[in-house]
Amino acid sequence: MLLLIPGPVQTRPEVRAAMGTDIAPWDDDFRAEYASLRPRITAIAGGVEGRHVTLPLQGCGHMIVEAAIRTFVPAGGKLLVPNNGAYAARVIRLAREAGRVPVELRAPATRRVDALAVAEALAADPSISHVGLVHSETGTGVVNDAQAIGAVVRAAGRRMILDAVSGFGVLPFMLAEQPEVDAVVFTSNKCLEGLPGFGFAVSPVERLLACEGQAGSWCMDLADVYRHGVENGWGSFRFTPAVQSLRAFGVALDLYEAEGRAARAARYAENARILYNGMLALGLTPYLERAEQGPIIVTLHQPSDPRFELQRFVTALKRRGVLISNFYSTKEPTLRIGCIGAVTAEDMRFAVAQIGATLDELGVGRRAAA
Ligand SMILES: *Cc1c(COP(=O)(O)O)cnc(C)c1O
Repeated sequence: MLLLIPGPVQTRPEVRAAMGTDIAPWDDDFRAEYASLRPRITAIAGGVEGRHVTLPLQGCGHMIVEAAIRTFVPAGGKLLVPNNGAYAARVIRLAREAGRVPVELRAPATRRVDALAVAEALAADPSISHVGLVHSETGTGVVNDAQAIGAVVRAAGRRMILDAVSGFGVLPFMLAEQPEVDAVVFTSNKCLEGLPGFGFAVSPVERLLACEGQAGSWCMDLADVYRHGVENGWGSFRFTPAVQSLRAFGVALDLYEAEGRAARAARYAENARILYNGMLALGLTPYLERAEQGPIIVTLHQPSDPRFELQRFVTALKRRGVLISNFYSTKEPTLRIGCIGAVTAEDMRFAVAQIGATLDELGVGRRAAA
């Protein structure tokens, strides 16, 4: 089965095979294996060893986003969230339920967030301490400009938390060049092509020291993860980790480093291009203009023909060997197709052909191809 969803992504067999043994996380052999992963992750974030630190947390992406909010934004503190999609709306909910005060900056779903609008919102409310930005908005496929928005956050003397979960490792980002960032967060899955099980934050050490004791949650306190690592060594966990997933992540990092960041980014961009053009040729309408289309996920309007029904389409396409999401998170009915994971251009051309065949099989009419 070709898995074309923006997480959990398709992985390579070597990565999955690494899960097949029992491991004690505190065992000396595994401690060394785990400890060796951390500087490699810091490097992918563009961090500097000693100044920045990689903090692992068991669980999914939402949990590491919440942990970053809790760790760096004090209880009752204000977090400005530019909202141009469903994942930004999730940041708002995570912040609110953690007892922080999200300030929503509404923005159109079909465009990247305007940095000037962020600057104006910060100027209008000096009590906002942080901006919570989604780098690649998985609800649509838009990639927000983390550098331009970071620059206005820096100029305003505020801090930023970057939800980089969907694009980390391929979208341009250098932590060392963005001192306003308290945390860039991501998971073992998605563009790093590991298995789910871990979230990571990469953060400045001095900020972790300045923010001790304000998370209001032991489990989600990244400053406590840091302190524990310093006091007990970086092969030690506070709580039982998804240890097999971590070993598999080591294999995924080997593959990432062997492929290289630029080549992986180019592979995904090519996947997205083949899909975007292929869907246009089938008479489907992409949700985004080409100029706003990022490399992570392509979203399409559902055909207006009443013979199109999403679950029926997904099930029929699955019979042909391609699995896509059976839900969408835009206001308008859409289809979402992931371009990331261990997926090649050839896989993408296969997927385009199967999507066309499935629409024909179901007798779904579309607009003529442009
Ligand atoms: C996938 C994703 C997450 C986290 O999702 P989980 O299901 O919790 O792992 C968070 N933010 C973005 C932008 C994502 O794409």
